[in-house]
Amino acid sequence: MSHFWSSVVHGLTPYVPGEQPKVADLIKLNTNENPYGPSPRVLEALQAEVGDTLRLYPDPNAESLKNAVAAYYGVTPPQVFVGNGSDEVLAHAFLGLLKHEQPLLFPDITYSFYPVYCGLYDIDFETVPLTAAFEIELGDYERPNGGIIFPNPNAPTGRLVSLAAIEALLARNRDSVVVVDEAYVDFGGESAIALVDRHPQLLVIQTLSKSRSLAGLRVGFAVGHPRLIEALERVKNSFNSYPLGRLAIRGAVAAMEDRQYFDQTRQAIIRTREELVHNLQGFGFEVLPSAANFVFARHPAWDALQLAAGLREKAIIVRHFKQERIEQFLRITVGTENQCNALCRALAQILGV
Ligand SMILES: *Cc1c(COP(=O)(O)O)cnc(C)c1O
Repeated sequence: MSHFWSSVVHGLTPYVPGEQPKVADLIKLNTNENPYGPSPRVLEALQAEVGDTLRLYPDPNAESLKNAVAAYYGVTPPQVFVGNGSDEVLAHAFLGLLKHEQPLLFPDITYSFYPVYCGLYDIDFETVPLTAAFEIELGDYERPNGGIIFPNPNAPTGRLVSLAAIEALLARNRDSVVVVDEAYVDFGGESAIALVDRHPQLLVIQTLSKSRSLAGLRVGFAVGHPRLIEALERVKNSFNSYPLGRLAIRGAVAAMEDRQYFDQTRQAIIRTREELVHNLQGFGFEVLPSAANFVFARHPAWDALQLAAGLREKAIIVRHFKQERIEQFLRITVGTENQCNALCRALAQILGV
């Protein structure tokens, strides 16, 4: 009955998220979730919010959460936008700030949702190739554009560009918006939020899904000049007044406030990542330098799809992308130490070493 579909729907190529298996007992290293649970304070805050007030709409402006994000980063609440996961924040940025006459620029190998938003909102784009070493070279973005977006660290490579390189880009590129998607920045990068006061064309987007263990709650935010934030608010208020429920707002505030738990868990992941990189290199893998909670690795003698299938037989799932240049790589989420040890034991069996 697809004649009921609008022409927009006919033209869509939707994003395909990593598998969320229905069976338990799998070691899930495929979607970059945090292996540690949310902060106990978040769980308490969520429980405290469960009650009669759920009959009432939440604060449409999620002011308490904007305040918490602003306090964490030393910015003002009018510089903060919050949304239902950073995917929603990104979607509003694509429509409200990145859709222009000139093409939007982003890397050829990057978060595969970007071209999907371009399809949804009919945004013209050009991809800029990563270097041979899979780095984003911001010097290559010096050309007419209607906006620039890239993740830092990049996904799925994990490679980081420096704040100095971002600032040099901002100095050259003043007439269109630059969006830095910092989904993984807490695992090894420095946030470009430090630059927003000097650069009114910079928008930084973050999520609570990865470093704050709240992928299931759906909270993301953006920080930038109040005029950029106003554009996002206009889109949001033309789409859904209440993207964040009471539970999401309350839980996210508690997550931003519990700095100690946040630091403990992200440091644990960073330590485990370094160990995992070392072990993978011991098996002969080439591993790209990662500043994220995943590693991107290829084996010179083993086909990536075959390795992924072999791991799957041993109840471990990792992510593989059928895309030119990276089809021999596996993206492996950093789990707990035990999970990563299990991964290494499984690889040792498959590789016969
Ligand atoms: C995970 C991820 C997101 C989306 O995060 P949500 O807040 O869960 O929607 C955005 N950008 C990149 C690069 C990601 O990897």
